[in-house]
Amino acid sequence: MNFDTPITIALSKGRIFEQTLPLLAHAGIEPTDDPETSRKLIMDTNHPQVKLVIIRATDVPTYVQWGAADLGVAGKDVLLEHGGEGLYEPLDLQIARCRLMVAGAAGATLEGNRLRIATKYVESARRFFAARGQQVEIIKLYGSMELAPLVGLSDLIVDLVESGNTLKANGLVPLEHIADISSRMVVNKASWKMKHGTVMQLLDALQEAIGKAA
Ligand code: ATP
Ligand code: MG
Repeated sequence: MNFDTPITIALSKGRIFEQTLPLLAHAGIEPTDDPETSRKLIMDTNHPQVKLVIIRATDVPTYVQWGAADLGVAGKDVLLEHGGEGLYEPLDLQIARCRLMVAGAAGATLEGNRLRIATKYVESARRFFAARGQQVEIIKLYGSMELAPLVGLSDLIVDLVESGNTLKANGLVPLEHIADISSRMVVNKASWKMKHGTVMQLLDALQEAIGKAA
């Protein structure tokens, strides 16, 4: 690949980095450091025109929206919360797949007035219950949502579910499916115009890699 413009790609550590790496490799891009061991937040790659910035998953849309990165990989869950302002979302990478669900203790239901819902996904939860015509109280948490119903903080939770094992280990059950989640490539709107050739080359190579992985 012979990019004609420098580009910066925002990634988060952990599953997104690990699962994006083989796709980038297909496009001829390989980071020179391992983010799990390196403290560097800006990483070079084997490709002189391509840099990576390593940030929190929830910060990826913000960096891309403001043009601090041209592209980024973000979970659909994060994009639903962010709202997608200033971004294009041209490619589903089909990685980090899971489901956004309502869950609760065995026997809990979604019926009831002013149910308390604990979640990191405030916007998605609000929209889901509003569409059902239900008034709920949303309690914002930053992690370990499974604990909330166990200690009486909430009636239900809205959280990501992959295998269901974390729910099960805490005596909770999935109750309702809200959305299928996977990670998407997002692109800054100005970069989409100004760096179109390079962005399209990268997206095409990634699309091909996804096809091969499927
Ligand atoms: P942090 O741990 O820094 O607070 P985070 O929990 O959002 O951030 P990850 O756990 O790496 O970071 O999740 C990143 C993305 O991966 C999420 O936004 C979501 O799209 C996806 N994801 C999260 N949990 C799962 C899961 N259990 N299975 C599959 N994909 C998941
Ligand atoms: Mg996490």
